[in-house]
Amino acid sequence: MLSKRVQSLTPSAVMALGARAQKLKDQGVDVISMSLGEPTWDTPEAICSAGIQAIREGYTKYTPASGSQKLKEAIAANTQKWMGMTVTPSQVTVSIGAKFILFSAIQSLCDPGDEVLIPTPYWVSYPSMVELAQARLVPIPTQVDEDFKLKPDTLKKYITKKSKVLIVNSPNNPSGAVFSESEWKALSEVLMEYPQLYILSDDIYNHLYFSGPMAPHLLQVCPDLKDRVLSINAVSKNYSMPGWRVGWAVGNKEIIEAMSKFQSQSVSCASSISQEASAYALVQCDKELEETRQSLMKIKDLALASFQEIPKLDVFPPQGAFYLWVGVEKLYGSSWQKGTIRSASDFVEALFHEKSVLCVPGEEFNYPGYVRIHFAIDEARLMAACSRIKDFVSSLS
Ligand code: PMP
Ligand code: GLU
Repeated sequence: MLSKRVQSLTPSAVMALGARAQKLKDQGVDVISMSLGEPTWDTPEAICSAGIQAIREGYTKYTPASGSQKLKEAIAANTQKWMGMTVTPSQVTVSIGAKFILFSAIQSLCDPGDEVLIPTPYWVSYPSMVELAQARLVPIPTQVDEDFKLKPDTLKKYITKKSKVLIVNSPNNPSGAVFSESEWKALSEVLMEYPQLYILSDDIYNHLYFSGPMAPHLLQVCPDLKDRVLSINAVSKNYSMPGWRVGWAVGNKEIIEAMSKFQSQSVSCASSISQEASAYALVQCDKELEETRQSLMKIKDLALASFQEIPKLDVFPPQGAFYLWVGVEKLYGSSWQKGTIRSASDFVEALFHEKSVLCVPGEEFNYPGYVRIHFAIDEARLMAACSRIKDFVSSLS
């Protein structure tokens, strides 16, 4: 009775793990959830007030499918401010979070059989988006000794006549790796050779960067790619607003118009109230953005130092975002009371069973041998999680 399309669709693993942790918490179990990637802190007060004011002032109607003019102007001004790129509001489209923007971009660019190249490890939802467009996912493996970053020569090997889209995500979910300017430059030289290839740059963690206020961007080093790169972002992570559901794309007007058309026939528009609050955040909240970055860096330092002390775990130091990417292969072959650990999934299940700490296995990011640990949680809970994991690792035989 159900369509083949939906039958073959798997639900988002991180959303499912988040729901699993919540269900047990509701039953009174002392679960420490380090699976679903969202900031634990609330949206800054000033942004909440802007949302409340928007309701009172009557911003309760539909906006254009591409977003309110006010928000598109704020996004265009921000693009100029942060990336030094002049864009007009007609090069911006807004929708329900970066997730739907990515979905809409892939629907707008890909025909059945087109290839979408994505370096591993990659965010859990990209493959389903590719599948729903009947395009073909081409994972490009990256290596630990290359800091999980795509290398130009490797990229070149995977490009064929059918390659249509490359998805890049820096800072990366799950690894926390960030491309430097020189690494972007080297990649851009390959990208310039293939004019049929569009690049979806998922910039959703770009201000959660540990070496400055914004992670380097491909278009800063290679503005010549501007007609082929869509810069995708959202208020979800940078401004601690995941539940407000506002994301956007900036780029080539023709693609932007196609996406807006797609959005007009599927979701109409993002919440008018959330759009008002987002415009306020983008224009007024640089201070809050910096405060978030500073607090995140403190937690990151603590998380990194504490997890690096746990024997047999290989912790990759993140350069941005809020995840620790941890190799668990040295534990393969170790036993716990109900079995033997032979994969990252086994590790996650055993840890959850024994210590009620939940993280995400690397298999979900197409990268076995690793687990993703979300560290942007309350400090005391972070320390408790660390000591539970330490106990768990030392209990293995
Ligand atoms: N891209 C990446 C890499 C993400 O981690 C997320 C997480 N939510 C998204 C896109 C989607 O973001 P949003 O919540 O704005 O839809
Ligand atoms: N991006 C977050 C994560 O990877 C939230 C989950 C989602 O949007 O699917 O955990």
